[in-house]
Amino acid sequence: MNCIFILGAGASADARAPLMHNFLERAYLIQPGSDAAPAFRLVAKARSLLQQAQSKAQLDIRNVESVFASFEMARLFGRLGDLGKDELQRLVPAMRKLIVYTIERYMTVRIRNGQISAPPRYDEFGALVKLLKGNGHRVSIATFNYDVGADMGLWLSGLEVDYCLRQEPTDPHGGAVELMKLHGSFNWGSCTTCNKMIWRGVSETVGDAEKKWRKEGTTPQGHITSIPIERIGPFRYAACPVCKTSSRPDPFIVSPTPNKSELHQGLQTVWERAALRLAEADNIFIIGYSWPDGDHFFHQLYALGTIGATILSRLWVCDPKPEVRRKFKDRLLGQQAVDCFGPTDEAYEFNSAIGRIASEFELGTVQAPKRRADQG
Ligand SMILES: [Zn+2]
Repeated sequence: MNCIFILGAGASADARAPLMHNFLERAYLIQPGSDAAPAFRLVAKARSLLQQAQSKAQLDIRNVESVFASFEMARLFGRLGDLGKDELQRLVPAMRKLIVYTIERYMTVRIRNGQISAPPRYDEFGALVKLLKGNGHRVSIATFNYDVGADMGLWLSGLEVDYCLRQEPTDPHGGAVELMKLHGSFNWGSCTTCNKMIWRGVSETVGDAEKKWRKEGTTPQGHITSIPIERIGPFRYAACPVCKTSSRPDPFIVSPTPNKSELHQGLQTVWERAALRLAEADNIFIIGYSWPDGDHFFHQLYALGTIGATILSRLWVCDPKPEVRRKFKDRLLGQQAVDCFGPTDEAYEFNSAIGRIASEFELGTVQAPKRRADQG
């Protein structure tokens, strides 16, 4: 069967990544280092200008995605209150910096016996994907998250990842798992010379971090412990296959605005592949994605993607909020999908959903894998 997972911020909640609605509040609890402090200050200033505009327009200045989208629109229109031209130019990069800095500071990754594992739940999630693949199912993953949780979970289970950033699959035999990051990722960037999309695989990041710890004698101790994911960075220092040079570009992450700005073109192949996989899917599992009201993009993707001839076997929305499940059921699904709507029991959290899906497909118990000796 063809399975597609659609992951949202809720999937990273057990790893302590901030959710969209309280993201900015948590961001401003951090004391940013000197490299990030100017970005934090500029975002705060622009956000207070948005607050003043709020009396005239419906803007949710608490939600990080709508603030990010407003900043992108401000750049497009060339104004935001009395913000200077130069500040306006720096605003979107500053917002990207704040988002990545905050996720890296809060999100945790498990360390087992001095070896890097994966952020909580993504370790089991990777194991589930491996079990599904091992039983002959095709699995792809679309995520709205900027973090590398899913990437690390797949890596830990020894699975290759295809980010779908090139037209051709990275593995022509279909061995790699397609991981389509619909809003970009903090380990992606565009080459500072030719603008081609480049990325750094998490295995490289992990290998370098552990090597550095050994050299400095700073390997985290204890049987199982958790550290902020920033301690295993940097996540972006990649070589361009065209220019053959390495650079550390800005993180390639975009807001969920439906406009087709130049920036979003880098994601064209990702979105195309996601629509194709949705069209072919027999099973759609939506985990921790609340489908915010302003997110027309997902509606379009779903509508275009599901025009295919496949009859859905399962469409599960695993989210603890009943209003989120109801929203998907009422507003999104045609009659055929309502019949396969689930899960029918209370497997709404990420970890219980993993177990529930495994039992649905008779895959046995899902266990987070240990690192193999050769896995760097
Ligand atoms: Zn290049």
